[in-house]
Amino acid sequence: MTDKNGIYLSVDGDNAVRVIVGNGTKIQTDKIKISEELIGELEYDMSNYEVVLEHISEKTEPLDDIGAYSEEQFTDVSDAALELADGVRENDLASGVLLRAAVNKLLDFKDDGTAMCLMMVMSHIVDALREPLDTRYILYKYLKSRSEFDTHDKWLETNVLPEGYFFRRDYPCEIINYDLFTNEPKLSQVFFFDNYTDYFVFLFLKFAEQQKRVLECPCCGKLFVPKSNRAEMYCDRVLIDGKTCKQIAPKLARKLKQRNDPLLEEYEKAKNRNYKRVERYENADGNSGVMRLTFNEYKAWLDKASEMKRLYLQGKMSAEEFGIAIQKINQN
Ligand SMILES: [Zn+2]
Repeated sequence: MTDKNGIYLSVDGDNAVRVIVGNGTKIQTDKIKISEELIGELEYDMSNYEVVLEHISEKTEPLDDIGAYSEEQFTDVSDAALELADGVRENDLASGVLLRAAVNKLLDFKDDGTAMCLMMVMSHIVDALREPLDTRYILYKYLKSRSEFDTHDKWLETNVLPEGYFFRRDYPCEIINYDLFTNEPKLSQVFFFDNYTDYFVFLFLKFAEQQKRVLECPCCGKLFVPKSNRAEMYCDRVLIDGKTCKQIAPKLARKLKQRNDPLLEEYEKAKNRNYKRVERYENADGNSGVMRLTFNEYKAWLDKASEMKRLYLQGKMSAEEFGIAIQKINQN
């Protein structure tokens, strides 16, 4: 195993072990669950990342009409890109390392002294940083849609396979002479990743192989993988005071039923309406005329609104405040 910047991954069912190489360090992390890694990744709030990225993207504009670029401008963009990647790393080690590895690889280019060369590299850097935004939406879309199907095969056939091209990528692997799980001598396979999309798409494929179900928790609005085949409605996330959705949701659901509340109906409608807007926006591929609502903006809103819903049901928030929280996204 060479020490290139990025992630080396060994897989066994839903378990994986990683060696993460970046910023001059090499860390072998504890065993992870692929399903948790995948769903956990979708939970980071990247709305701020999105804003910073827009600023970086603006910095790549040429200085004049002829398309001149300065060295300082280039340094400015690459520094900001690395800083953004390192910022991600603070909360999300894997993603931060992958983003930095991707940017570093692009910075390792042959400078022919032309403005064209600098422009190309800057634009590739912005593309590399944009990967999490597009990829997170696509993965969310597939995982969320799983709950609409009774069987794994139906889901694959209807939703995933028609867009199979997205998954056809190179996943470079090598054989090493020890087992990453046990550190015992053994010929074993490790995959190598130095960009965000390949890594998470690979995890998705490994997840799909396991034929697990995915549900959307009606309490917190987040995706989860039910632990058994029993009819589990709510997730195990700790929502408040050490209590999980599963523990507090039934009581909230009873309250919800008792009061035929138009505001709660409005919340459900807003959830669907906003997700449809995300679908339209993300599928429009930069086409103007489509109202902007990115996946990350939607996720940030959903997390906040579902939290408000809980507070409202618990009587800790007024109807007025809850109503405002539901509508807030439309004011952007
Ligand atoms: Zn939940």
